[in-house]
Amino acid sequence: MAATVTYMDHAATTPMRQSAIDAMMPFLDGVYANPSGSHRFARLARKSVDEARDLIASIVGCKPGEVVFTGCGTESDNAAIVGVVRRRGGVAVCSAAEHHAVLHCVEHLGGRVVAVDAHGAIDLPALRATLDESVSCVSVMAVNNETGVVTDMKSVSDVVRRLAPNAVLHTDAVQAACWIDLRTLWPLVDSMAISAHKFGGPKGVGALIVREGVTFEPIVFGGGQERDRRSGTHNVAGIVAMAEALRATDAEREHEIARITALRDRLLAGLLAIPGVHRTVPNEVSVPGVAHVCITDVESESLLYLLDEADVCASAASACASGAMEPSHVLQAMGVPRDLSAGALRLSMGHTTTESDVDHTVRVVTDAVERIRSVAARLKRT
Ligand code: PLP
Repeated sequence: MAATVTYMDHAATTPMRQSAIDAMMPFLDGVYANPSGSHRFARLARKSVDEARDLIASIVGCKPGEVVFTGCGTESDNAAIVGVVRRRGGVAVCSAAEHHAVLHCVEHLGGRVVAVDAHGAIDLPALRATLDESVSCVSVMAVNNETGVVTDMKSVSDVVRRLAPNAVLHTDAVQAACWIDLRTLWPLVDSMAISAHKFGGPKGVGALIVREGVTFEPIVFGGGQERDRRSGTHNVAGIVAMAEALRATDAEREHEIARITALRDRLLAGLLAIPGVHRTVPNEVSVPGVAHVCITDVESESLLYLLDEADVCASAASACASGAMEPSHVLQAMGVPRDLSAGALRLSMGHTTTESDVDHTVRVVTDAVERIRSVAARLKRT
């Protein structure tokens, strides 16, 4: 990647941590054995997978046997929701602002989608009204990937335990690992999805943490790896790197939260000085890494084009359907008016973000917004 790139898209994926790259290299090159084999070389690979499992378990506060390695966050969410409903029957429930890895599962299963509040967190009275004894699985994200909004998982857990005591409570914690101590989240739920590439690990590897005794129908069949819960040869290098990335993320979290909060405040101070820029959710309800704003009289598509030209990587988190940028399902569920959501901009930060990234981004966004508005004004006059 060009050294000049200003990467403000950590919610999409994070640059790998050097320690995770170092951890995975021996397994790409030297120790290539299949960990399910019976020879000494295979046992060496298996030992590394087991050590990674132990390390992840110690960071989550779960038992090693409760860690199921998967191919990504999407697969972890699918296994938890589709797997539970196939095993138990009943109805799946989720919030309207979930990532599609959850929302599309619940819709596919004919489940119930619960409204969110103006900040995009699940609406607790609506959740209460939705739950009954027919519900077998409830999935609520810990942190929203577009707005960074943090769910009050304690309240969600209390409601689910009271009104649907037999339901499995799953949380998509894919965006949470950088900002929330997973040890505090795990006791509230029965299963949890994480994905390595969101915290400095490689793409294509994740984990489903699932409480002992909670069974689900596998969604990947084959050789019976992961105690018959997820077949497929282990991605040894990816698993080892994921464990190292999570270790580093956990160790640095407190420091990073303080550092990124200061950067987020600096970024927003710069952005909010531009006329017509509105913060989508208050800082108090969002993780520090995500600064989501909506800009009036600007289309996200044009803005992202100009940012890209200036080597600033950002996202609108909008879907491009039939050639037109549609407001994201999250902003629609929150009831953000169309004239605001059309100018959505998500800037997301993480372990590599610096003050100069922030200052450069503010300059580029300010300039781009000015250019878009002046072109629009000129066109209007002609
Ligand atoms: N859930 C959330 C909240 C996400 O942000 C993402 C990725 O963007 C996923 C699930 C899917 O994870 P993966 O990319 O590992 O499939």
